Amino acid sequence: METVPYDKRSGKIWFNAKLVDWKNANVHLLNHGLHYASCVFEGERVYDGEIFKLEEHTERLFHSAKRMGINIPYTQDEINKASKEIILIQKVKNGYVRPVVWRGSEMMAISAQKNKIHVAIATWEWGSYFDPKLKLKGIKLNISSWRRPAPNSVPWDTKAAGLYMICTLSKHEAESKGFTDSLMLDHEGNIAEATGANIFFKDKSGTLHTPTPDSFLDGITRRCVIEIAKSKGVKIIERKIKPNEMSEFIGCFLTGTAAEITPVSQIDKYRFEVCNLIKDLSQSYQNLVRKKAAA
Ligand code: PMP
Repeated sequence: METVPYDKRSGKIWFNAKLVDWKNANVHLLNHGLHYASCVFEGERVYDGEIFKLEEHTERLFHSAKRMGINIPYTQDEINKASKEIILIQKVKNGYVRPVVWRGSEMMAISAQKNKIHVAIATWEWGSYFDPKLKLKGIKLNISSWRRPAPNSVPWDTKAAGLYMICTLSKHEAESKGFTDSLMLDHEGNIAEATGANIFFKDKSGTLHTPTPDSFLDGITRRCVIEIAKSKGVKIIERKIKPNEMSEFIGCFLTGTAAEITPVSQIDKYRFEVCNLIKDLSQSYQNLVRKKAAA
């Protein structure tokens, strides 16, 4: 089934505090966001008509903007209200929300001190990020030839558009070789994350290991899954993990707003089982996002 391109859909988009027809939610091609990656965004999921962890996402949007020297001309409260309003207007029950903030067109060179800050929030019905069949069996990752940049070279703890350049390059490289996603190492060669999700491993004793997020995003899902695992008495170690340690791990999964909990069956030459702990964490996460009583 062919999906309708994102610029050809219908309904409304919240655009600088106005509800604009989807087809009119346009920018001029000379804008600083497009040319110089003066842009930050969020990715949120709607479950049963409610945005999961909306306040945390809005807070991160403001944090990302601040790190980019962008002053959002609304309060967090206004953005939260607008996000709730647009999912109601679009009648999204189970979907995705994309707030985006960018510098406009007043200046078009490196300096952009006078550029107007624009904010939009779009939402649409949406299902699984990875193919649902693959998601059950576990997805396969290669190891990217691109590394996460050193923390003193980018605002690494943000969802700034520029950080995604190497993610798209990595993902395309992986897909062209028959993998679903790509594992990225950090600037020192430690395991960092996938192209849009954090990573966890399970060892033989049932302990989970996850990289310390000191040069990449400490995902909202990552933190949530750590809480769930701790509440089940599962031990979690956050530390530097070298790629060759993967031979010792028996399970692996990704976490992210889009990915939710996605088991991984293979990374490069390393194989993993979709073990009961991963299935159990995934079920608990689904119960939490849909506010069902713990299974
Ligand atoms: N890393 C990257 C690069 C991402 O794009 C995402 C998705 N936002 C994540 C990790 C996971 O973050 P979260 O759980 O907050 O969605």
